[in-house]
Amino acid sequence: MQSVLVTGGAGFIGSHLCNRLVKEGYKVICLDNLLTGSKKNVEHLLDDPNFEFVEADVVQPLIFNNRSSDYIFHLASPASPIDYQNYPEETLLANSMGTLNVLKLAKETGAKVLIASTSEVYGDPLKHPQKETYFGNVNTFGPRSCYDESKRFAESATYVYFRKHDIDVRIIRIFNTYGPRMQKDDGRVVSNFIMQSLSDAPIKIDGDGSQTRSFCYVDDLVEGIEKAMFAPGTTGEIFNLGNPDEFTIKELAEKIIKLTGSKSEIEYSGTFREDDPMRRQPDITKAKEILGWEPKTNLEAGLQKTIEFYKSNF
Ligand code: NAD
Ligand code: UDP
Repeated sequence: MQSVLVTGGAGFIGSHLCNRLVKEGYKVICLDNLLTGSKKNVEHLLDDPNFEFVEADVVQPLIFNNRSSDYIFHLASPASPIDYQNYPEETLLANSMGTLNVLKLAKETGAKVLIASTSEVYGDPLKHPQKETYFGNVNTFGPRSCYDESKRFAESATYVYFRKHDIDVRIIRIFNTYGPRMQKDDGRVVSNFIMQSLSDAPIKIDGDGSQTRSFCYVDDLVEGIEKAMFAPGTTGEIFNLGNPDEFTIKELAEKIIKLTGSKSEIEYSGTFREDDPMRRQPDITKAKEILGWEPKTNLEAGLQKTIEFYKSNF
């Protein structure tokens, strides 16, 4: 039986990944320090003999008493803007020391590694849509930089270990992802708007709502993550993973109001967040060609499932 280590496995995306890997017959170790995740996200797996939860910090040396994994998915890092601004030092460390620890472990054990990066490495992009070859437009000294720059460091560290130590590694740049198990108070736009709509509270849009995002349903993303790890021809490659359908934040609010049948009114703050990317849309040509992957879930269908989750859980 092949074994897998998922760092950040008790988080939103990590818990879906653990779920799928266990179902597919892998032996999964989920390592998480529960900073922004929750054991509740994996509680349905805790009794499974092929699942083990280890409460540990990826920033500390990773010691597994000679148990090695065949594959390591490194997802541990705060991810929502509210979380990484509440935990800026932890974010810097999870993506720098944490990534180095994962790469060191892979070097020692020969594991195949996947490092989760982000569309934030493109910053507020001057090119549209964003291809993997775009270097980005990132502010090194602002509220998002602890996340953006530490993910850029993670990519750089990965390159060094790939070139110098010949480890079998790939990077994915995840674009905005949503779905069940997103924390209700993580401050992300989808969770905020659903919570506001379900209680008929005002929907608060930053700026004038003309900024765009492209939203990927979590099941689609997890399928892409697996392909990036397991498909042939991915060693040393970077893949954008996201849904290329682009919406303004105003359009997103209107869709959520409609799908929930809410009486919420939209309120505009008039000011954008500092360094807010004005447009974001992945070019996924490379993932389509090499991984044979593209998202299948349209925004309405994914929102509907997410709204159902929120209705029955909060
Ligand atoms: P999340 O906050 O739900 O999950 C992250 C998990 O990592 C949490 O369970 C947290 O407790 C854990 N963690 C944080 N620091 C840790 C540490 N030092 N040691 C061990 N565990 C630690 O966020 P998510 O949305 O599931 O994001 C997962 C990964 O995907 C992150 O690397 C994030 O940067 C990346 N990503 C997510 C999105 C998105 O839209 N959700 C977009 C781009 C990139
Ligand atoms: N946003 C908003 N209202 C909210 C939450 C977010 O208008 O309650 C906007 C935010 O300013 C940004 C976009 O929605 O332009 C996406 O924000 P999010 O925090 O979800 O993620 P980001 O893509 O910025 O990391």
